[in-house]
Amino acid sequence: MNDADPRLCPTCGDALSFEILDDERFLVAWSCVNCGLIRTTEPV
Ligand SMILES: [Zn+2]
Repeated sequence: MNDADPRLCPTCGDALSFEILDDERFLVAWSCVNCGLIRTTEPV
């Protein structure tokens, strides 16, 4: 199990779809079409 995978929903385990919010800062919004969860990741 790899629950640190940002591509999977931490709530239901579905694959998330992503949308790039800011190209320069690599800010990405991940959304789950199954349960509606949205989270953003910003790699350091
Ligand atoms: Zn989900």
